[in-house]
Amino acid sequence: MKAITSLIILVTLTTLGLKSNADPKIEYREISFTDSVQKKVVDPVCKMKIKPNVAKSSVYNKTTYYFCSEGCKQKFMATPSKYIPAK
Ligand SMILES: [Zn+2]
Repeated sequence: MKAITSLIILVTLTTLGLKSNADPKIEYREISFTDSVQKKVVDPVCKMKIKPNVAKSSVYNKTTYYFCSEGCKQKFMATPSKYIPAK
């Protein structure tokens, strides 16, 4: 059991490592036009960290929100107030 857990962690780390290596710098330049957008954004529905340039986005109340999938976007658009943190 312990060995399996270690293996999973190793695979996860390797995958993450490969992903960040594969990121060309130009990718970040493309998204830098929006001040509030950094390297990663959080899907307000499932709290997953995602990259804006590959995410589904939706503009609500002049703010752009990003989603990991069409499903999360649909949920958000159905009840946006449920997912937007109160300021
Ligand atoms: Zn999501």
